[in-house]
Amino acid sequence: MAVEELDGRLAHSTIRPNPGEGAPSLYLSVLSGRHFLQIPGPTNLPERVLRAMDRPVVDHRSPEFAELLPRIVPLLRQVFGTDAGEIIIMSGSGTGGWESALVNTLKPGDRVLACNNGQFGLGFGNAARRLGYEVEELALDWGQEVRPDDLERKLRVTPEVKAVLVVHNETSTGVTSDIGAVRGAMDRAGSEALLLVDTVSSLGSIEFRFDDWRVDVALCGSQKGLMMPPGQAYLCVSPRALDISQNGGGAPRNFLDWAPMLREYARGLFPFTPNTLMLFGLREALTMLVEEEGLPNVYDRHRRLADAVRSSVQAWNLSMMCEKPAYRSNTVTTVLVPDGMDGSAIVEHARSRFNMSLGVGVGQSRQRAFRLGHLGSLNELEVIAMVSGVEMTLREMGLPVSLGAAAAACERSFVAA
Ligand code: PLP
Repeated sequence: MAVEELDGRLAHSTIRPNPGEGAPSLYLSVLSGRHFLQIPGPTNLPERVLRAMDRPVVDHRSPEFAELLPRIVPLLRQVFGTDAGEIIIMSGSGTGGWESALVNTLKPGDRVLACNNGQFGLGFGNAARRLGYEVEELALDWGQEVRPDDLERKLRVTPEVKAVLVVHNETSTGVTSDIGAVRGAMDRAGSEALLLVDTVSSLGSIEFRFDDWRVDVALCGSQKGLMMPPGQAYLCVSPRALDISQNGGGAPRNFLDWAPMLREYARGLFPFTPNTLMLFGLREALTMLVEEEGLPNVYDRHRRLADAVRSSVQAWNLSMMCEKPAYRSNTVTTVLVPDGMDGSAIVEHARSRFNMSLGVGVGQSRQRAFRLGHLGSLNELEVIAMVSGVEMTLREMGLPVSLGAAAAACERSFVAA
């Protein structure tokens, strides 16, 4: 019997028959159990979040709907680490968040400094360029954090910069930059630029301190640490950025304009038709993160899980793209593959053999790497299953890894912790 005939689901998947002997029985294993979604976002949804969204569509002008925002906004404020910031919730994704941050605060032609230490730093800068801003680039080695000294030096020679664009957690390389240190470098350079920060793969998993670091706009998507499906973007806006936006600053905009959003939010409503059901899910996810587990515990869980993943990578004798341990991300690990090996082939093998999605290398590390996502709704036993799946994949791809090494490394890491 051909594998494709075993179950209708296969016809819609990318799963291909293994040319090796006994292939059908291997592939039978992908028909049961759950898919392991271990890309660095979108992430797995808790059942409770799914159930919260599983309801009839509501009238988005009804009293029932208007109860959602007054509950969600204070919880999102806590996740961003702000008292003073205004929260924006819109349909879209991280890319839409970039655009929203830019067009609400900067006039066409304004000069911005984009910190490029990975694919998303590059992308944030490219978005600004396409929107008509003059983009200066702080070009850094990929795999490196945004170094405050480099930034300070660059700002001293480009004092006219109106905004600094930086990615808190670079999802392509697995590097978390120190945003407090970035703000410190701006202060030392005497820069009055706005600080615009992408928190797409950090928010809700790695601590963010919007007020303490005097961030002007932070932006995020729903589909990573916040344990939500893709489809929404969230921003946090400082009083200064809001003032610029509402008093003639920014670029022409319509859907992305913060002013009508904030006006309507005050009544619990939106100036456009929002993704209503997602908001029920968001209320549930934020309740779980902020009120039940508690943000300090959420951040600590991500650190513990990431430590275990890193100890597994070391057990395989592979290197991480982020060389300096202090900047290694607690949400994504980018693993470099040995010369002659193709990172995408590893990802493809894990998917077809073990029903597990891993991230491919992107940008400069395409083919040279694969990425392990360890964020959102995730626990210790799931991490052990993930690294065991990766280890078996590596072994089947011909890498001399010891079977059981990763699980043992994780267990040591968890039990000692
Ligand atoms: N910024 C970062 C750090 C990301 O990881 C991503 C996507 O993975 C984006 C921006 C783009 O976000 P989206 O794909 O939600 O538009």
